[in-house]
Amino acid sequence: KAHLILSGVHRHYGTGDTMVRVLEAADLTVQSGELVALVAPSGAGKSTLLHLSGLLESPQGGEVEIIGIKTSQLGDRGRTQLRRSTVGYVYQFHHLLPEFTALENVSMPQLIAGKSPREAEARSMELLDLLGVGPRASHRPAELSGGEQQRVAIARAAANHPKVILADEPTGNLDPETSDLVFAALRSLIKNEGAAALIATHNHDLARRADRIVTLKGGLVVPHIL
Ligand code: ADP
Ligand code: ADP
Repeated sequence: KAHLILSGVHRHYGTGDTMVRVLEAADLTVQSGELVALVAPSGAGKSTLLHLSGLLESPQGGEVEIIGIKTSQLGDRGRTQLRRSTVGYVYQFHHLLPEFTALENVSMPQLIAGKSPREAEARSMELLDLLGVGPRASHRPAELSGGEQQRVAIARAAANHPKVILADEPTGNLDPETSDLVFAALRSLIKNEGAAALIATHNHDLARRADRIVTLKGGLVVPHIL
């Protein structure tokens, strides 16, 4: 099943002489359980592609389809609702809430979505265990290593069973060994949950472990070999 489909997506910034054409007619399909690595130089449009895929930005042309829903026909409210119920976002810097434990950080989005504290806690522990940070559940972010913090952030992104997981340099501030560990955890999560994942990374060793690698060229998404 294709959880994420971009077809003929067009996105530029500015007008006239200062116009930057980032995506001209970009096509990309990511299947359930598939991990696609996005490798491209700085300024090529990786963040733009992720923001469009996560409904944080709208294209000026083309279609972004999530779980079969064509988002060009949705209003702001419909897009926000679809984003909240289907998309999980992982950032380079984890943005965990410092006053709350790992368990509470992962439970928060579930409580906001209306789950009972008991259900939320069970799901949070399932995810923390899957990512190998179960024993850290009662620790606050400052008490965790960088790799542990990032795995908690991944658990939080996955808390509400997203169909699409988007990650912008999720291992960007980690050493190579920790990056490896975090990527492996993310990969097993994606396979386990059957999410479609698009991960922007500069780390070629990690990108090679994705199911597929793509890059951005001339405003298109094209296959890439490293
Ligand atoms: P990457 O993530 O690969 O570094 P971005 O998607 O952030 O690339 O940016 C792609 C291009 O679009 C860059 O030239 C950037 O300067 C431009 N750009 C991105 N966002 C905006 C914006 N809000 N306004 C103007 N230009 C932008
Ligand atoms: P890494 O191997 O990822 O670099 P660290 O060397 O930073 O990890 O930490 C090793 C272990 O010590 C980790 O399991 C982490 O949870 C724990 N730890 C690190 N800093 C603290 C702290 N301030 N308080 C409690 N535990 C900590």
